[in-house]
Amino acid sequence: MKHFDVNALKKLPHPVFCIHVEETSSTNDDLKVLARKGVADYTLILADRQSAGKGRLGRSFYSEGGLYMSILLPFDNATAFFLTHIAALAVARGIEELTGEGALIKWVNDVYVRGKKVSGILAESIVSPRGRHIVLGIGVNLDTPEEGFPMEIRAIAGSIHADRSLLAVRILHHLFTLLDAGDLDLVRREYAERCFLVGKQAEVIKENSCRKATVTGLTENLALSVRYESGETEDLAFGEVSLRL
Ligand code: ATP
Repeated sequence: MKHFDVNALKKLPHPVFCIHVEETSSTNDDLKVLARKGVADYTLILADRQSAGKGRLGRSFYSEGGLYMSILLPFDNATAFFLTHIAALAVARGIEELTGEGALIKWVNDVYVRGKKVSGILAESIVSPRGRHIVLGIGVNLDTPEEGFPMEIRAIAGSIHADRSLLAVRILHHLFTLLDAGDLDLVRREYAERCFLVGKQAEVIKENSCRKATVTGLTENLALSVRYESGETEDLAFGEVSLRL
């Protein structure tokens, strides 16, 4: 795997301290341990591969041959609620910039290119001796052919071709810029433009149920509005819900 250029991280709006490891179980778990010991915000852990990469709801994220990083962010009340949405925008912007390919978002935080999921994002809130923080993990599949993915995700997973260091820098640049600006109207607008679910049929999967619905829109809080076959409507807050097309 190509060398990671740590110098490029120094020109970001917030200087990033990068810890680069070849392999770990999960960069989010490692960063949580370090955060509780008091490392500074904007510490980044980057791994060449994760043996137990994590997705939402305890799912696993296949992590071999791509960009896997977790960044420690200060907890900011103004943007914390939208952190996951903002992270998806940052990833989409970074991918588009480097590949020239359109990057869309499957609510809440899956980034899709050419109809395939190329990125997973996991935001976790933690408390350290210095207060509250967010550990934000981002994984992007790079140069993985279809047969390179485990069988069970071949139908949905895709990958992009981009330089790993540059991609990390561009994603972090957009993340910091969006968070620092705190312009939630811009976030709502761009998120709505990139979210490709509106108007589509989907299965809404909760702990014990799976119901067919039509996605009718996004709310002010970027919850997903759906109408079930029964005519009943619901605004889905992220967390416990999964959507299958
Ligand atoms: P959804 O809402 O689609 O269920 P999610 O946001 O809950 O997605 P994530 O937490 O981002 O999902 O990722 C875990 C899921 O993504 C796994 O259950 C698997 O289906 C899929 N997956 C796992 N590894 C990868 C990968 N490297 N690339 C694309 N998809 C993956």
